[in-house]
Amino acid sequence: MSKRHLTKQQQRQIQRNQAKASNAVDQRQAEEFLATDDLGPAQSGRVIACFGTQVEVEPDPADESPAKRCHLRANLPSIVTGDRVIWQDGEPKGVVVAVQSRSSELCRPDNRGRLRPVAANIDCIVVVLAPLPEPHRNLVDRYLVAAEHQGITPILVMNKSDLVDDHNRDYLFDLLEDYQQLGYDCLQVSARSGDGIGRLSDRLDRITSVFVGQSGVGKSSLLNTLAPGTDTAVGALSEAVTKGTHTTTTARLFRLPNGGEVIDSPGIREFGLWHLDPADVADGFVEFRPLLGQCKFRDCRHMGSEPGCAIAEAMANGDLTQRRVESFRHIVQSLETAR
Ligand code: GDP
Ligand code: ZN
Repeated sequence: MSKRHLTKQQQRQIQRNQAKASNAVDQRQAEEFLATDDLGPAQSGRVIACFGTQVEVEPDPADESPAKRCHLRANLPSIVTGDRVIWQDGEPKGVVVAVQSRSSELCRPDNRGRLRPVAANIDCIVVVLAPLPEPHRNLVDRYLVAAEHQGITPILVMNKSDLVDDHNRDYLFDLLEDYQQLGYDCLQVSARSGDGIGRLSDRLDRITSVFVGQSGVGKSSLLNTLAPGTDTAVGALSEAVTKGTHTTTTARLFRLPNGGEVIDSPGIREFGLWHLDPADVADGFVEFRPLLGQCKFRDCRHMGSEPGCAIAEAMANGDLTQRRVESFRHIVQSLETAR
């Protein structure tokens, strides 16, 4: 016996009633806010930190006005650091009333492996490397693939240029030159001596960036050099983590005195690519792109044993470097092992 079905008309009536009920809840909550708080006019702003059900918003344009703690109006989509919002000022707290659409999202898996945005509206991923710890090209490739996959421009910054010597010079310069040839912007700087910091600061002007890279390459040192005083804020962040009011992926936006913004958090620094499938990895190797779809088999994995693989042929012809093709295969293998 089939279940009794609702007619189309009954379904529409139910939908209308549900919509009315949920609008009524919105309306009531908004009215409660408006009734209890003396709110100012709607204005635009940027979320510089998130604390559970509250966010810190900096008014636009970012001038002398301090950031303001804000409640969230009901029914807003989830908000992350870097979001551009419409908000109303109030005492003691303001209210975020709308979230503007994002130009980009930096995502990472949560504890259950589901991809979640951790920061929004990022223009540039700064991949930091250094003579020490010695840079592994495969790791650099991983960061680049992850950046390409998220559609965010990566640049390579080699910090600790003061540590370049006769022993490591050739290796490091070759490495940077290879990436430059692929079209990546590469800079050499030293947080310690200040060498190249002006150029880096110019490069970050008027955009929002994140710094990623191996532990110990000098990400904190660079942030502190670019924006003195950042360390106290980072300290405050970790204090909040221990009090349990944060997750470790909570990010904070810092303004650089010469212009530009950097979003930083432990979670962003560990930014990786374990959630990608092999096709995404291939697409993240920019020089492979013109060849993708040209292999004999549509589901070719370019791992070296497939006949008629356009990637393998291009490597044999010298159009692709063996190093990058091997790096691609290594990443695909390691993703499979991780699964
Ligand atoms: P992070 O883990 O990437 O944030 O790296 P840190 O900023 O904590 O730096 C790691 C170590 O490298 C520290 O001992 C810094 O003093 C040192 N360091 C950072 N930048 C430079 C630099 O430009 N030159 C040299 N020689 N050491 C640096
Ligand atoms: Zn292939």
